[in-house]
Amino acid sequence: LPVVAVVGAPNVGKSSLVNRILGRRRAVVAEEPGTTRDRGYARAEWAGREFLLVDTGGMEPSARMGLEALVTLQARIAVEEADVIVHLTDARTGPTEADAAIARELLRSRAEVVLAVNKLDDPADESERYRFYSLGEGEPHPVSALHGLGVGDLLDEVVARLPEAAPPEAAELPGIAIIGRPNVGKSTLLNRLLGEQRAVVSEAAGTTTDVVESEVEVQLDGGRERFALLDTAGVGKRTHRAQGVPYYSALRTAEAIRRSSVALLVVDAAEGLVAGDLQLARQVEEAGRSLGVLLNKRDLVPPERLREVQEQAAARLPDLKPPVLGVSALTGAGVGEVLPFAARINRAFNLRVRPHELAEYVNHLAARSAPPRGVKLRYATQTGTAPPRFTLFATRPGDLPESYLRYIENALRERYGLQGVSLRLKVKSSR
Ligand code: GDP
Repeated sequence: LPVVAVVGAPNVGKSSLVNRILGRRRAVVAEEPGTTRDRGYARAEWAGREFLLVDTGGMEPSARMGLEALVTLQARIAVEEADVIVHLTDARTGPTEADAAIARELLRSRAEVVLAVNKLDDPADESERYRFYSLGEGEPHPVSALHGLGVGDLLDEVVARLPEAAPPEAAELPGIAIIGRPNVGKSTLLNRLLGEQRAVVSEAAGTTTDVVESEVEVQLDGGRERFALLDTAGVGKRTHRAQGVPYYSALRTAEAIRRSSVALLVVDAAEGLVAGDLQLARQVEEAGRSLGVLLNKRDLVPPERLREVQEQAAARLPDLKPPVLGVSALTGAGVGEVLPFAARINRAFNLRVRPHELAEYVNHLAARSAPPRGVKLRYATQTGTAPPRFTLFATRPGDLPESYLRYIENALRERYGLQGVSLRLKVKSSR
């Protein structure tokens, strides 16, 4: 979505304007009120165009006005991300030195700038706006955020300057969902992952059940892959998190799993793999997604714990045998490995084995350990991917014991690195 940022000196009425734009939809829009240093995002729509509206409440200056206001990091980021910036000023006080400093800064950014003059509550005073031409930002648009005057015209202007809409959902990125019980360290981990990447392209907050999605890039084996990181921790939504609404968090988890290729289950190393973790793992399996376990808080446990949990995961989740990566979101240890770890699982998830090679390998397995007497393995074929599906053709398939299928499954899993991927093997009759 294109990004529209509302920027301006303190007290010019940024939040009032944002509230006006979001209007009655505000009730269902989950913005990110946060502290004054946070950027609040909300989805907005005007004239059939959707955009992310960013409220830079963050421009509250620490001490002085003017440029000080703009150098606030968060506001800078908002300015950098924005496609269109609404520079809001106050007809009663401006144009001030602070407005001029902000204007100079904005005109250097790549965004389109639309100048708005607020607090023109009485249409008779509209000519006040002409003074603001001195800012060099073009036509000053009169508004009254308080009474809603001029907001429609302002939005027409904003929407006209939005970049062309991207082809819808053309290139949806594979998703990596971060899931886990409360307090296992999801938020801490996400903040680290995003902090390291600083590649947040979109961070869309919608309704309370919405999953926050950030684009990340992973370097793997010399190549680069892009993913959508799906946040169920509500990093962008402290309010809902603070309310601790388990219903919403369960919905978010389900939604994140649905949109993912890989779910990363964050587990508290001090507690090990508990029933609640296994339940989430099974939810991933049932959805046909792949799974990796992140053993977080590794700093709190002896190193042997990793192996214990690996064994426990393999025993308790035999159809997935998820790989386990030890990390400490707190100290940062192992966090750099997390995305490559997920990217590797995603590769396995999307595996396509060349038919010839698969057939040969299964022949080899049959030679190494023959099926029971009277049963012949004819051939094997891959019938699907993401997750990979295999079909084995055999004479008298009913006589193939479960243990033999396990043998083939485990061998395939080992050979093709299918840890964490639910491997489905069917047997069909061939004459
Ligand atoms: P969430 O509910 O899963 O998002 O969990 P939080 O990220 O809010 O973390 C819960 C608590 O665990 C916080 O007090 C964190 O500081 C702490 N925590 C998170 N990761 C680690 C870690 O790797 N080691 C330690 N010792 N504490 C951690």
